[in-house]
Amino acid sequence: MTERIPCTREGCSATILPTTAEKTGGYCMPCKQEMKRQERQLYIDKHRRDVNLYEGIADPVEILKIMHTNLEYDPMIRYTPYKQNKEQLYMSLSAEDAGKMLDYAVNLLVSGDEDTSKDILLSLVCYKNISLSAWIPELISRELYYPGILFKDASEEVRNQLMDQVEYDNDNRNHLLSALVWIGDEQVVQRLHEWRKSSPEWVGNLNISPDLYTYEAGWELTEEGERHNLFYGYSYAIEKVEKAEESVHGASESVILLTESSHTCLWCGGKLTTLLDIGVSHPFFEFLSLAGERLKVETCVICGCYGTVYMDVDLNGETKWSTYNKRPDYLPDINHDDYDDQYLSASKSFRIASQPRSVYHAAEWTLEPTVSQVGGHPSWIQDAEYPACPCCSKRMTFISQLDWGEIEKHGEGIYYMFLCPNSMITATLFQQS
Ligand SMILES: [Zn+2]
Ligand SMILES: [Zn+2]
Ligand SMILES: [Zn+2]
Repeated sequence: MTERIPCTREGCSATILPTTAEKTGGYCMPCKQEMKRQERQLYIDKHRRDVNLYEGIADPVEILKIMHTNLEYDPMIRYTPYKQNKEQLYMSLSAEDAGKMLDYAVNLLVSGDEDTSKDILLSLVCYKNISLSAWIPELISRELYYPGILFKDASEEVRNQLMDQVEYDNDNRNHLLSALVWIGDEQVVQRLHEWRKSSPEWVGNLNISPDLYTYEAGWELTEEGERHNLFYGYSYAIEKVEKAEESVHGASESVILLTESSHTCLWCGGKLTTLLDIGVSHPFFEFLSLAGERLKVETCVICGCYGTVYMDVDLNGETKWSTYNKRPDYLPDINHDDYDDQYLSASKSFRIASQPRSVYHAAEWTLEPTVSQVGGHPSWIQDAEYPACPCCSKRMTFISQLDWGEIEKHGEGIYYMFLCPNSMITATLFQQS
């Protein structure tokens, strides 16, 4: 048997055959490869060029066009990032510039770059709430029916066309229904109600019945066959600030995030957390139509990842663990030593924006918008999921969401908060990718 000899690289305990050593200069193969990789990295670091594609460009439209261009990866080039991200640039666009981006997106669509075009259209719809009405026929002619939110401002003519098409177009029915619930006008509501009363044959091929698509667009079809919105018509971002700072618009007391509650979680025995504490009498929150002082939304941030946590609340800021809470079967045994309360220190790092933003600003999670907000349409990571009020059985209204990725260093996912204003019950649920 040939005697094996040790790899000569410091710290390596592998042994190799003398024939290998001859080929590699005394190193084992993994070491040899690692050394080659390091050598290459050194070469790249030394010779890599910085390229600033934005140099000398001030026009936000031109900057956005560059941002939407797919750059071929080249290890020898390091691209200088722009000082603002897409979201900030879109928000800063004037109406005229937004129109230019729309034209650009339509040109891309015509030239066949559907993906980039859709990204721009989505950004314009969400961040600027721009109507695509005039361009929806262009999408349809290319059989592009998704995401449904692009269709929300469709004309009556297009709506009728889609309602006809959904009856026979087996291939696109799923997306057509999404588009229709986003249009969500009286005719669509009426048609969904008819389908619920008497199911068309094709319903059997769907995963869910047509009237359940509505949650995706933030509303439900009531038993009486009416549209009931599940989100509020205003949205205020909850912005992260670099340093804890004085509120610039006297709203600091109007929203308090992430404080420890005096109540206990009946599932794990830990302390509950007040995710959100809002002064509902502040002029910002008139849209909530809640006559009172404060509303608190509490949850157990540990157990809340596994199931819906309901709380009885009033408008004086009182909360109580709801007797409707049902311990999830799949709740693991929780050892509190495994968790810290780092998230409580994030409390002072946020403030409510001074101006409302588009209600649909965060509706498309994949655009990577600023997610945390009060009001507005939720950013679903998974399927839309509005909890039913355990008291009156109606779907609860979305009231706020917090991006856990901004709150904890290695955090991820979103906490969603809901309210049934009739029963005065709040609910939280959590989603992650
Ligand atoms: Zn080695
Ligand atoms: Zn708990
Ligand atoms: Zn209720």
